[in-house]
Amino acid sequence: MKKHIYILFLALISILFIGNSCNKSEGKSMIVIMLGPPGAGKGTQAIDLSKKLKLPHISTGDLFRENIQKNTNLGQKAQSYMNQGLLVPDEIVLDMLFDRVAKEDCKKGYILDGFPRTVDQAKALETYIQNNKLVVINLEVPDGKIIERITGRMACPKCGEIYHKTYKPPKEDSMCDNCKTPLTQRKDDTEEVAKQRLSTYHQQTEPLIEYYKNQKDVLCTINGTASKEQIQQDILTSIEKSK
Ligand code: AMP
Repeated sequence: MKKHIYILFLALISILFIGNSCNKSEGKSMIVIMLGPPGAGKGTQAIDLSKKLKLPHISTGDLFRENIQKNTNLGQKAQSYMNQGLLVPDEIVLDMLFDRVAKEDCKKGYILDGFPRTVDQAKALETYIQNNKLVVINLEVPDGKIIERITGRMACPKCGEIYHKTYKPPKEDSMCDNCKTPLTQRKDDTEEVAKQRLSTYHQQTEPLIEYYKNQKDVLCTINGTASKEQIQQDILTSIEKSK
């Protein structure tokens, strides 16, 4: 009888122990935020990072552009702000973002590109993700380089590959190397709108650097003017260190 009670006791202890250790890893997902001015290379780096970490890449700018292309209600609401280089109001962004991250593929985490862009958006995200692991990658690029980067940018509308007329020209004029689709330029990548986007960044998004600096072990600042490969390596090292 005593032996049975002892075995039962051991079984109970192991159920409790295994149960607890599972919960610890099960609930934790990693959320990576790509922060930086427009044209810093957030999208380019997020695409590669998404493949390496096997986490979905969520770009709020891309979500808006898809909605504009499909002429949805949301797209119509966002378009005029985007064309002027202004931020889309928080309530529109937040609904769209939280709908997306609630999907099954985001269960283990995700990479956010272009979100949050205001301190209020960051606070809303924190409430949503609760105690999941947050890593903020701040890509630093001086203002002097931004306008040239943005105005020379072209992208493939089919596979998403990003080119630059000086730094990464396609092999054939204005054609995607991967799928031979004609490359397009974003409507808001003109000099006038790019200048406004940069000013919007300084006013509304840059305060997020201070905001995340005040949170322990969250912010990783990386030189965004290094080579694409070097930046990717620095990002991966920072993520590894912050684990
Ligand atoms: P992006 O593709 O990230 O450069 O975003 C393009 C445009 O979409 C921005 O200039 C904004 O007008 C809008 N946008 C994207 N993400 C956000 C956001 N988190 N909050 C407000 N507006 C956004």
